[in-house]
Amino acid sequence: MKTVKDYIRTIVDFPHEGIMFRDVTTLFSDPRGFRMCIDQILNPYAGTRIDKVAGLEARGFIIGGAIAHQLSVGFTPIRKKGKLPGATLSQAYQLEYGEAVMEIHDDAIQPGEKVLLVDDLLATGGTAQAGIQLIEKLGGEIVGCAFIVDLPELGGRAKLEAMGMDVHILCE
Ligand code: IMP
Repeated sequence: MKTVKDYIRTIVDFPHEGIMFRDVTTLFSDPRGFRMCIDQILNPYAGTRIDKVAGLEARGFIIGGAIAHQLSVGFTPIRKKGKLPGATLSQAYQLEYGEAVMEIHDDAIQPGEKVLLVDDLLATGGTAQAGIQLIEKLGGEIVGCAFIVDLPELGGRAKLEAMGMDVHILCE
C-alpha cells in the first residue's frame, strides 16, 4: 500500500538551481493520497479540542480547509504581506537572504481559542514561527503544528519545539 510519501514528487532545480523542491500537488491530486494525508494529520488530535484551523500560504490553505471542514470549525489564512483585505497584524521573519512578512486579520482569532496550525512543509521553521507569533499575539492557544513533510537537516522541528510547540509531521 502506498504511503503519503509515495505520492510526493521531487522537482530538481526549482525555484532555483540546486534546490530539490518537494511537490505535494501530486499528493493533493490523488483522491486516496489526499484523504490519507488529511486523516493522518488529524489522527493524533482525536479527542483534542480544536476551535480553529490556521493555514500558512499557500498550500497550508488546501490542507487547512479540508481539516477545518472535517472538524466543522473555522479556517483562518495567514498570508504574505499585502494580500489580506482587512486590518492585519504583521510578523517579520528571516529568509535565507533577507526578510519576509506574514500577516493575519486582527479579528481572525478570539483570545483563548484553541488553534491547529498547518502547512505542507517545514524547512527552517521561520514561516511557521511567524504564524505562531501572530496567533499568539491575538491570544490564540496553539494545540499543535502539523505538516506533511519535514526537512530535518534544516532544524525547523527543533525551533518550534524550543518554543514549546507540539509538532506532528507525516514524513521526512
Ligand atoms: P521555512 O520557513 O524555511 O520552514 O520554509 C517553509 C515554507 O516554505 C513553507 O510555507 C513551504 O510551503 C515552503 N517550502 C520550502 N521548501 C519547499 C519545498 O521543497 N516544497 C514545498 N514547499 C516548500
